[in-house]
Amino acid sequence: MFRYSSIKDYHNALQNGQTTCVEAVHFYVDAIAARPGLNAFLEVFAQEALAKAAELDAHRAGGAKMGKLHGVIVGIKDVICYKGHAVSAGSKILENFTSVYNATAVDKLLEEEAIIIGRQNCDEFAMGSSSENSAFGPVKNALDESRVPGGSSGGSAVSVQAGLAMVSLGSDTGGSVRQPADFCGVVGLKPSYGRISRYGLIAYASSFDQIGIFAQSVEDAALVLEVIAGKDNFDSTVSQQDVPAFGTISQTPSKTYKIAYFKQALEHLGLDPEIRTAVQGLIDQLRSQGIQVDPIEFNLLDQVVPTYYVLTTAEASSNLSRFDGVRYGHRTSIANIDLNQLYKASRTEGFGKEVQRRILLGTFVLSSGYFDAYFTKAQQVRRILWNKANEVFSGYDLLISPTVPAPAFKLGEKSEDQVAMFLADIYTVFANLVGIPAISIPLFQHSNGMPFGLQLMSSHFKETDLLQFSAQLMAAKPSQSVK
Ligand code: GLN
Repeated sequence: MFRYSSIKDYHNALQNGQTTCVEAVHFYVDAIAARPGLNAFLEVFAQEALAKAAELDAHRAGGAKMGKLHGVIVGIKDVICYKGHAVSAGSKILENFTSVYNATAVDKLLEEEAIIIGRQNCDEFAMGSSSENSAFGPVKNALDESRVPGGSSGGSAVSVQAGLAMVSLGSDTGGSVRQPADFCGVVGLKPSYGRISRYGLIAYASSFDQIGIFAQSVEDAALVLEVIAGKDNFDSTVSQQDVPAFGTISQTPSKTYKIAYFKQALEHLGLDPEIRTAVQGLIDQLRSQGIQVDPIEFNLLDQVVPTYYVLTTAEASSNLSRFDGVRYGHRTSIANIDLNQLYKASRTEGFGKEVQRRILLGTFVLSSGYFDAYFTKAQQVRRILWNKANEVFSGYDLLISPTVPAPAFKLGEKSEDQVAMFLADIYTVFANLVGIPAISIPLFQHSNGMPFGLQLMSSHFKETDLLQFSAQLMAAKPSQSVK
C-alpha cells in the first residue's frame, strides 16, 4: 500500500523499487475520488497524470537521472495557468476558458518532472478567507466538514491536509496560503514578493500577489520553492537574485536567531485566548533555551487591514477590467444591446457578489474626488509599514505572531459579516504590504479539536532563515505540538 511522508522518502522508495510513480498517481486519484464532499478539486487530470507517471517510471528504469521533483504529485490552485487546461479563477466569468500558455512556476515544475494532478477550488479571483466565494461551491475542512478550510486557496490546503496531493501551489495576496494552512494544520509558505514569477498567475492585486506552497513539512515546501523560484523574462518584478539551495535546509541549529514579536499583536482583543496562551508559551519556551525573543511596539496594527483593503481593491478594479465579455470568458446572451450594456450585462452575470463589491470599492477609492483621501493615504501608510519592517529586521532575524486570530470557523458563520471576515487577516497582510516572506507552521491544537499555526516572517529574500528555523521548530515539537 502506498504511503507518503516526504519527497525525500518517496524518492528513496522509487529508487529502491518499493513504489512507482504510477502507483502514486493511482493512490491520489483514488484518494480524491473517495472525498468528493470536500470539493477540493475542480478537475482531476487523471489520464495524463498516469501517462506522465508511466513515462517517468520508464525513464528511471532506463537509468535516467531523476529531476528534483521527479514524480511528485502536485495540485495547482485554479488561478495558475497550465497550457491546454481550463483555468477559471473559481469564477463563472472564466468557466470555459482554457490556458494558452504555462505559468512560469508550472514550466519549472514540469522541467523537474513533477506530475500535475489537477486544479483546485478557491475563492473567486482569490478574494476571500473561507473558500465560500467559489462559483463552484464551497470547500470543506477535511478535519470537520462543518468548518471552512480558510481561503482563498482552500482547495490547495485541504488537498495536502487530506492526502489528496503531496504538495500544492496556491497564491497569497493577503494571507491566502498561510491562513488556510493554519486552519488545516499544514505548512503554508508565502515567499518574498518577487521570489517567484507571477507570469501566468491570474492577477488580483499585482503589487501584493505571490505564488505560495502548501506541504506537510517545511523541507518539502523548501524544495518546491527552490524549483519554482528565480529569474524570468516574462515578469519584470521578479528578483534577479540567485536562488539558494533551499532544499538542503536542515533541522539542526546553524545559527542563533534573534526573534521579535509585536506586543500589540499578542495583546489584541480579537485574539482567541487559547491562541495567545499557546504563542506566549512558545515564546517562554524559546527564552528558556537561551533564545532572545523581544516584544516590540507596533502602533499601526489596527491600520494594516484597512490599508490592505484600500490598495488591493484599487488594484483589483484595474486588473479585472480586462474581463469584459469581449476578450475573455463569459459574454451575455442578451441580444441587441450597445457595447456598454454588453460589458455591464456580461460582468454582472459573470462575477459573483464579493468580486463585484471589491471592484466597486476599488473604483471608489480611485475616483478623482476620493483618490487622495483613500488611495494616496493608504500608499503613505504602506511606506511607513515598509520602514517599520526594515527597522525590525535591522535588529532581528525573525518576527513571530499567531497566523490567524481564531481557528477555523463554521461554514456560513461569517459570510454575511464582511468586516469580521476582513479582520481575520490582521496578522497576515503585513507581510504582503511590505513584501517579506512568511510561513505558517502547524504547531498547535485548539480545545475545539482544530489545529492552528505559528506565523514566522523574515527580512526580504531571507527565506533560508525562515525555513531553517521553522524546520527546527517542527522537529522540536514543542509541548503544545499536535504532530
Ligand atoms: N483574505 C484576503 C482577501 O480576501 C486574502 C486573499 C488572498 O491572499 N488572495 O483579500
